[in-house]
Amino acid sequence: MTERLSDERGFAAVGESLKRIREEIAEAAIKSGRQPSDIQLMAVTKTVEPEYINYVIENGVDLIGENKVQEFLSKKEFLKLDSCKAHIIGHLQTNKVRKIVGLVDTIQSVDSIKLAKEISLRSVSAGVTTNILAEVNIGEEEGKTGISKNEVEELICACAELPGIKVKGLMAIPPFSEDANKTRVFFSNMNQLFIDISAKKLDNINMEVLSMGMSGDYREAILEGSNLVRVGTALFGGRKY
Ligand SMILES: *Cc1c(COP(=O)(O)O)cnc(C)c1O
Repeated sequence: MTERLSDERGFAAVGESLKRIREEIAEAAIKSGRQPSDIQLMAVTKTVEPEYINYVIENGVDLIGENKVQEFLSKKEFLKLDSCKAHIIGHLQTNKVRKIVGLVDTIQSVDSIKLAKEISLRSVSAGVTTNILAEVNIGEEEGKTGISKNEVEELICACAELPGIKVKGLMAIPPFSEDANKTRVFFSNMNQLFIDISAKKLDNINMEVLSMGMSGDYREAILEGSNLVRVGTALFGGRKY
């Protein structure tokens, strides 16, 4: 397990951050014509020790996100996950799928049919259903994970045919910008894609989740339609790898 940074936040500081983040989520939800409860807060827990993760769970956080299968597996036994779901949000190699299926509710980072097929196969043999989100490379950035916007529908329609998995929506990590307002256009494009695909009412596809927005831009993401924000640094403090 990694050590905390020297600017480590104590439990009290994490508690304060959680309160502030919830207030800001509520405010952005209302501004976007929705209820605070319409927006899910995910605590992104990469490099965060189980004590801190359990602290936010005890304070009502019911969704955590981990990037790496190995890290999740090494922490899992210490986590109080009875009232909390876990999602995988990082790039997933097909050879890791077997280890994680059945332990997480959703894999948010599905960007190929090959990966979807493996999740399907392993879910069926484990006797579980795994929810998936299609990860979209909305900035069309080279070398970045996620499927191109033009290929999303094809991917999710192919996924809808597979047993053991359920398509629940879309996820994106837009190009990084210091200025969250610059990111808004990508959030807006994602929202439009989400609306367009939802409107088609495709068989076996439940467009429920639009996962976008991180520490620096979750307010803007909500204003543009996100209903699941993934927040790490703003909650737990800086990460050390
Ligand atoms: C790390 C990570 C986050 C959280 O980023 P912060 O800026 O620390 O809030 C969200 N989503 C994904 C996919 C991540 O890898």
